[in-house]
Amino acid sequence: MTGFGKGLTGITVVMTEDLLRTARHTITIGAQHLRLSEAETQRLLAADRQLAVAFTIEFEDGPELVHAWRVQHDLARGPGKGGMRYASDVNLEEVTGLASIMSLKNSLAGLPFGGAKGGVSVDVGRLPDGGRAQLAERLGRAFGGFVGPRTDILGPDVGTGPNDMAAFTKAWQESMGSDSNAVATGKPMDAGGIEVRTGATALGCAQAIRVALERTDLDSGASVAIQGFGSLGAELARLLSDDGHPIVAVSDSGGGIHDPDGLDIEAVAEAKKSDGSVTDADGEKMGSIDVLTVEADIVVPAALQAVIDADLADALQTKIVVEGSNAPSTVLGVERMTARGITVVPDFAANAGGVIGSFHEWKTNLGEAYDDPRQDMIDRTRTLNESIWDRAEKDQVDLRTAAAAIAIEGILGA
Ligand code: NAD
Repeated sequence: MTGFGKGLTGITVVMTEDLLRTARHTITIGAQHLRLSEAETQRLLAADRQLAVAFTIEFEDGPELVHAWRVQHDLARGPGKGGMRYASDVNLEEVTGLASIMSLKNSLAGLPFGGAKGGVSVDVGRLPDGGRAQLAERLGRAFGGFVGPRTDILGPDVGTGPNDMAAFTKAWQESMGSDSNAVATGKPMDAGGIEVRTGATALGCAQAIRVALERTDLDSGASVAIQGFGSLGAELARLLSDDGHPIVAVSDSGGGIHDPDGLDIEAVAEAKKSDGSVTDADGEKMGSIDVLTVEADIVVPAALQAVIDADLADALQTKIVVEGSNAPSTVLGVERMTARGITVVPDFAANAGGVIGSFHEWKTNLGEAYDDPRQDMIDRTRTLNESIWDRAEKDQVDLRTAAAAIAIEGILGA
């Protein structure tokens, strides 16, 4: 195998800071660490299969063409697995980057899945009544045999939820003449969902934090700041607060709140109910992004992608960043954090709990359920996080490089 020097592929990837480049950068540093050849690296970077479709949706003011994509990045380990994103600015590049992250995540978690992701370029706020059902129906037909329980399994992501997964499953079954509901996960309980899928990402993220605490000089009273108070952020705040961690700052799209002594998370959750904002609860008000730069032992971005750029990385006042959201750091942001000695638990280790929960829903739908899926989720997230700290120490590299190397070995060895 020929090695190639830092900088060949590396330099190209650090110049632009979008999600695809962040994902490619992670694969590249893992490949460089394993001394893979340029050809092997290019193979890992390339997506196995991509589907682009277009269909018409009836909006209030008439029919409009909508574009959608499904990317299966690497299928060596098994069927593709990854979410569906509905967002007006989603595009093929973003979907490809997210699918690549899923390949790493599924491999690191030891799941029998390749990495996949899908996106629909649509402003969900403009969809008319029944628009989501129309969308699911069009997608079910358009994706057809490109996806399936043994081919590629969908799940929720930004802009989609349990009802979209149920609607897609129904549409896909009708289009394919199948009665299997294992084509999508994250479904409501009455459509084949399982209870442990809810809160799975936060449960896994809490394990990532526990392992990080054990491996550093921090204790169980370490303070935490979280950007995002949605499915992941709110549940993580609750779990960590119950464990005795002061949650010193949280934010949502309406802004942030801060209390160096710890916020009352029950009161924040109450304030957030019925379309409120976390800013309706007690605490010093601040901008939604400012919660990332408050003084805290651990900072968790759990809302947006590409939010930690070089400038924000310079402003961080923390020792550990746990990447709850997908690709929250740009390439330059990662480099600045590393240069500043900030430990970063990468997204594909920190938020793997969600896809492990999805794995259990899929197994249940196939009639192959585990006895104790919750325990398996805890064990897997704990083991995968311990493995990246062990490897980082053994190879004297940062956690992202160690995690990428382990994940790539899992793909190449499949
Ligand atoms: P969500 O939609 O439930 O919550 C997102 C949160 O981000 C909301 O509280 C929203 O108000 C907040 N937000 C939006 N814009 C913001 C801004 N400018 N500043 C601060 N907060 C802002 O989403 P989620 O399911 O919690 O996912 C969050 C991230 O975690 C996403 O990147 C997602 O891809 C990733 N993730 C989620 C799961 C999961 O199972 N939920 C699994 C893996 C990865």
